[in-house]
Amino acid sequence: MIILHYISVKTGQREDLIDITDHIRGLVAQYGADKRACIVYVPHTTAAVTINENADPDVKRDILYGLDLIVPATSRYRHLEGNSPAHIKASLMGASQYILIDNGKLVLGTWQGIYLAEFDGPRTRKVVVQLI
Ligand code: ZN
Repeated sequence: MIILHYISVKTGQREDLIDITDHIRGLVAQYGADKRACIVYVPHTTAAVTINENADPDVKRDILYGLDLIVPATSRYRHLEGNSPAHIKASLMGASQYILIDNGKLVLGTWQGIYLAEFDGPRTRKVVVQLI
């Protein structure tokens, strides 16, 4: 039987990286005893899921700053909604992550956290988790 777990995440700013590691750990603790991997997915076009450092908060800031350098806000995009940089950043980061489970626990490095990446907030986002 396939069970999807839905997490609702409120984002507070236009762009942000929100640490959802504890939510995912909680699901794995509850349902992951006999599972081998975890897929974390966002069904959105201007949000993403990424894994990166959760120790120094400046890393979050620098990732967002670096993405701004890669995807500048110019007036030359055509998409009428005006949020093309958000779409491009979401595609660069990707809509999902695949994390291994060992002995009922997520296999994450000491400094790794799982982040919902918001690029067109604030709004309420869905995160879908599948344990397999
Ligand atoms: Zn758009």
